[in-house]
Amino acid sequence: MRVLTVIGNRPQFVKAAAVSRLLRTEHDELLLHTGQHHDDELSTIFIDELGVPRPELELGIHGGTNTEQTARMLAALGPLIAEQRPDLVLVYGDTNSTLAGALAAAQARVPVAHVEAGMRSFDRAMPEEVNRVLTDHLADLLLCPSQTAVANLRRESAAGRIELVGDVMVDVALLFQPRAKADERPLRDAGVGPGEYVLATAHRAGNVDDPARLRRLVDLLLAVEETVVLPLHPRTRARLESAGWLGELEGANVRLRPPLGYLAFTALLCHARAVLTDSGGVQKEAYLAGVPCVTMRDTTEWVETVEVGWNVLVDLDAGAARAALDRTPPADRPELYGDGRAGERVVAALAVP
Ligand code: UDP
Repeated sequence: MRVLTVIGNRPQFVKAAAVSRLLRTEHDELLLHTGQHHDDELSTIFIDELGVPRPELELGIHGGTNTEQTARMLAALGPLIAEQRPDLVLVYGDTNSTLAGALAAAQARVPVAHVEAGMRSFDRAMPEEVNRVLTDHLADLLLCPSQTAVANLRRESAAGRIELVGDVMVDVALLFQPRAKADERPLRDAGVGPGEYVLATAHRAGNVDDPARLRRLVDLLLAVEETVVLPLHPRTRARLESAGWLGELEGANVRLRPPLGYLAFTALLCHARAVLTDSGGVQKEAYLAGVPCVTMRDTTEWVETVEVGWNVLVDLDAGAARAALDRTPPADRPELYGDGRAGERVVAALAVP
């Protein structure tokens, strides 16, 4: 089988690391990088560190509004799919690259497989939610990370075949966390010791694009009593710079870092006292590492991490964040998103006609 895989941003490189190499042992894969994340620190470093094959095709499409970007990707993908004639298009997650890949394939009558299908925040104000819902209803094969995702798709009467495979990000985390944890250089670079800091990430449009929300984010970070290590996403850096608030963070309890490669970030994650984030992936990775998580959103797709008591949703409420950071996590940490073999199940599911 000839599979065209469409990826484009940071978490998609991580997800492809669990699948592409396995896929290539049985099928032909053409890996296409849309360019959505084009800087080296958000793309190339992941390809190098995680053993993702070098993309055979690159579109170089980035910037613009979500609508413009998706439209430009569609315009490029249409002729490309017609020329390459894949048997299947594989997409991951919930980005503009995901939706563009799925829609271009569906319009060309090429079957679509969606990894991380069925995730819902039930918040249509999130661009990711719109991308997920549309992609799921275009897909022929829906590969779900959790039982909750399966139930969401059944409730929406999604037409494609639904399979519970587990979370491919778990495969990568289980493989790389022990190795990353053994190297404390990223902690020394940030000037912190194990267990002495909170690791923070923030980049959701809903938290950084609106100046009033961005201000609340800054105030929340400044209210944390411990040292906060913050590898700053380029989008967040740009918004903070234009609001003139970057200096406030630099002078305070916050250690700003550039966006980090997976191994350096994972080292900081594994040794953190707690994690403070608005990322989807980081909520799960913290859980797997046994690090309590405080999520700066009022919804999550990864509801199980909240249900078992390891993750607390605080939106941008500084008081709630401080209280949540003071909590002691539960003793139990049941397996939530699979056993680290989701990639194998994805490849097996693709082979079923
Ligand atoms: N990540 C990283 N370096 C960083 C921040 C995050 O390697 O400086 C990784 C993190 O371990 C996870 C992924 O990037 O695997 C999450 O990506 P992001 O938060 O951008 O996206 P989301 O999961 O929210 O869609």
